[in-house]
Amino acid sequence: MLGSLLDQVKLEVEEFAGSIRDQVVTPDVTPAEIRAFLQARYDFTRPIPAAELIDDVTQMLRRWCIQVTHPRYFGLFNPSVRPISVAADTLVAAFNPQLAVWQHAPAANEIERFVLGYLLDRMGFDPGSAAASFTSGGQEANHTATIAALARQFPSISDAGLHGLDGQPTLYLSAEGHHSFHKAASCTGIGRSAVREIKTDDSLKLNVAALEETLHEDRQRGRLPFLVVATAGATGSGTIDPLPELGALCERHGLWFHVDAAWGGGALLSDKLRGALRGIERADSVTWDAHKWLSVPLGAGMFFCRSAAHLHHAFAVDTGYVPPGREDAADPYRTTLQWSRRFIGLKVFMALAELGAQGYAKQIDEQARMGDLLRLRLEESGWTVINDTPLPLVCFTHERVTSGAVATTRIVERVNGRGDAWISEVRLPRFGTALRATITSYLTNEEDVEILVAALESAVGVD
Ligand SMILES: *Cc1c(COP(=O)(O)O)cnc(C)c1O
Repeated sequence: MLGSLLDQVKLEVEEFAGSIRDQVVTPDVTPAEIRAFLQARYDFTRPIPAAELIDDVTQMLRRWCIQVTHPRYFGLFNPSVRPISVAADTLVAAFNPQLAVWQHAPAANEIERFVLGYLLDRMGFDPGSAAASFTSGGQEANHTATIAALARQFPSISDAGLHGLDGQPTLYLSAEGHHSFHKAASCTGIGRSAVREIKTDDSLKLNVAALEETLHEDRQRGRLPFLVVATAGATGSGTIDPLPELGALCERHGLWFHVDAAWGGGALLSDKLRGALRGIERADSVTWDAHKWLSVPLGAGMFFCRSAAHLHHAFAVDTGYVPPGREDAADPYRTTLQWSRRFIGLKVFMALAELGAQGYAKQIDEQARMGDLLRLRLEESGWTVINDTPLPLVCFTHERVTSGAVATTRIVERVNGRGDAWISEVRLPRFGTALRATITSYLTNEEDVEILVAALESAVGVD
């Protein structure tokens, strides 16, 4: 039964992947249109044959999604996916291992531990004493970092909550940092006002002197600093904060040092790029999403922590219904935010094993090369690149934009409206609104870059 369904899925996805460059990247659809379609077709009273369903759902996904696996989706870090990682997710769904408790899924738990151990080593952490886990994404990983930092700085919080504290725990990140920390602050009860955004310098990196000053002021006012977040590959601009300086500052001030490398972490697998993340080995914890630059399907985030003790402290529970664990293997439900746990790590394990470390490095380097090519071609065509990063994320503007002749919104509408590429707008300090394009697909080639530049040329020219 499953076999024949997978045969049909195989035909559908192979046909789609094989013609991906001819597919429309951006759909033109309204919520009302999709709702009416669903309403007319599905009332759940009549069972629908599986083959008909697979066909119908495939059509909806083809017509009504931004096709993020398209090589000209220059978008928000959503990658083309390695075929082996899709096979991995299929195996996971079919076997449905439950990883909450080690004993329930020894193979799955040890495969995850093994691949995370390899990546810990690449980051310069000691896999013997560090802890790591797969997460739903960067949001959960950053939330976990906030909880771990709170547990270390204020050990009473895990039981007594915030009441016992005589000030507001406060965390610091650059104005270019990710807004998942605002959500984490709200969810942990410290409140969004606990997030202090530090201004950036001219290259959009966190200004370390301004941070030091703010820390000093905040302490005088009775706030309780506990966490500094460095962003390694900011979502808007791709910039990398000065990690060694921030690591040293955290040591001086006794603060938890977290590096949010949700996208940029991929650079660690490249010998050419990894130097840009020097200093990450000083971190207390790191966020790194496999579902961004490692080209595996959503959702596969990763959280790495120098010391397992704080995670045990924050997450430990004792139940009367889960069988007791083993001395030699931690149960993930007692050391992480999730309870029931899907085998997220298999797609990372299999992609890494199939490509090999060298193959991954090559894939990452090639994307960086396409980023460099895009920068070059834009500048040759009269655009101005305004961000400074070795990573393949390009923010750019044009004399016709800065002079007010054409708005960035119009350019994005025109480029995306053609259907053969997707880019976005970004708001950056001191520059205002600009255009943003990232190389997120390992399939993107020179011709794709040329097609984007040509689309931009025609979009900026007309008005
Ligand atoms: C994408 C991103 C996140 C959020 O990660 P999700 O996987 O979308 O939850 C956090 N931080 C940075 C820097 C990101 O780019």
